Amino acid sequence: MKDREKDRYILEQFIHIYCRGKHGTPRGSLCPDCADLLAYAEERLRRCPHDPKPACKNCPIHCYRPAYRERIREVMRYSGKRLILQGRLDLLWHYLR
Ligand SMILES: [Zn+2]
Repeated sequence: MKDREKDRYILEQFIHIYCRGKHGTPRGSLCPDCADLLAYAEERLRRCPHDPKPACKNCPIHCYRPAYRERIREVMRYSGKRLILQGRLDLLWHYLR
């Protein structure tokens, strides 16, 4: 998998975990809010001018609009904790590097 595809895949996993845990949506689907957030984040990822893309926290641009950035950070916090509990450090590592 290329880096950007991997970023996209991980992003999707994080949002799905969050939506299922917080909003009670069935596995494999997203509520409208989370679907919107995912679409926005994918769009930012597609347009990221950096190659290779740095971890977002190290990026000089911070391309997310503040409202979305706050939401994505909450998703990362919540799902990050869940992944630690599930022993999925392989996914998490990508964000902590
Ligand atoms: Zn949701």
